[in-house]
Amino acid sequence: MKTYAPLDVTFEHGEGAYLWDSKQQKYLDALCGIAVCGLGHAHPAITRTITEQAGKLLHTSNLYQIDKQQHLASQLCEISGMSRVFFSNSGAEANEAAIKIARLFGHNNNIENPAIIVMENSFHGRTMATLSATGNRKVQAGFEPLVQGFIRAPFNNVDAIKNIAENNNNVVAILVEPVQGEGGINIPDADYLNQLREICDQQNWLLMLDEIQTGMARSGQWFAFQHNNIQPDVMTLAKALGNGVPIGACLANEKAGEVFQPGNHGSTFGGNPLMCATASTVIDTIKSENLLSNVNKMSRYLLDAFNDKLGQLDGVREIRGLGLMIGIELDSEQVAHECSEFVKLALQKNLLINVTAGSVIRLLPPLILDQQQADSIVSTVSELVIDSLQNKVAA
Ligand SMILES: *Cc1c(COP(=O)(O)O)cnc(C)c1O
Repeated sequence: MKTYAPLDVTFEHGEGAYLWDSKQQKYLDALCGIAVCGLGHAHPAITRTITEQAGKLLHTSNLYQIDKQQHLASQLCEISGMSRVFFSNSGAEANEAAIKIARLFGHNNNIENPAIIVMENSFHGRTMATLSATGNRKVQAGFEPLVQGFIRAPFNNVDAIKNIAENNNNVVAILVEPVQGEGGINIPDADYLNQLREICDQQNWLLMLDEIQTGMARSGQWFAFQHNNIQPDVMTLAKALGNGVPIGACLANEKAGEVFQPGNHGSTFGGNPLMCATASTVIDTIKSENLLSNVNKMSRYLLDAFNDKLGQLDGVREIRGLGLMIGIELDSEQVAHECSEFVKLALQKNLLINVTAGSVIRLLPPLILDQQQADSIVSTVSELVIDSLQNKVAA
């Protein structure tokens, strides 16, 4: 079905940060399949795990113990400080689990019509509940009636949350991205999550973080909340967790995690041995290759270089980033074409990038990025932006 309008290119193989198309043209991948292939393409450790596990066992169902799932869950709990994990096959499903936990938590506390606070410009997925939670009309339009039970608040606005607390007695949770990805790489104030944590503690609400895009080292910490001195009650993961095999996870602390009892939730495929063995290798590899430190180093390098080349230009509104989530917000009035055209122009220069929220060039390069590749991203993107701004002036 025509759910996407794909670009006219097919990739046949990849290695590290590079992809080759069917005409053997080489491309630098600064998008990683939308923050999925953090370890790059065809990483030998991932290939080995997938092939070995495929030769042993793919699937048994959750009607039996799955040691690979238990191992992955304990690794995730160790790096996150959480206590329990539910495994799904996608990000939207991980968020569905979080939403169900919040509602059940509410009902267990005698709240009849539990509501979850969600943010403007958020993105939480395409299932009915997650698109209803999403703060983007384009994602919702045509799919009404939406799922009830969400209260919308502006992102990065603590007073708005306090106001909701004063005027509602049925709130059970806040669901928020630590950095809004699809919404345009929107980074909140440094103490935003701390303040949300404080309100949730006062109100007995669950703080639920959607780390589907920010998680698994992308932000320069294992999880973006670790830039703050807090723990969430619930956290969702997917994207980079499997480096390309479909896996999602909903993590919870004891309080939120004990809400689900046998029969409350499930998944046929979720947590199967192939996905879990692969995700365990993702974690092992991020550790053994010291990728957290590489992310921080490359993040500073890219932000400095972009600031150098583009920071003073009138048509560039802001350059922002956390770890290897980088956004360059343009003034669309000053660009010679639709901002989304940059994706095609970059493709012609053998670079894969993305444009989101109308006017934000979004870069999500692999965690293994090296300096030469970073230089190449900066020079291609800067050249395209500068050309476009000059063309507009000339016209
Ligand atoms: C991608 C994304 C999702 C949805 O994940 P799917 O695997 O596409 O269902 C949810 N939340 C955030 C923050 C995302 O970036």
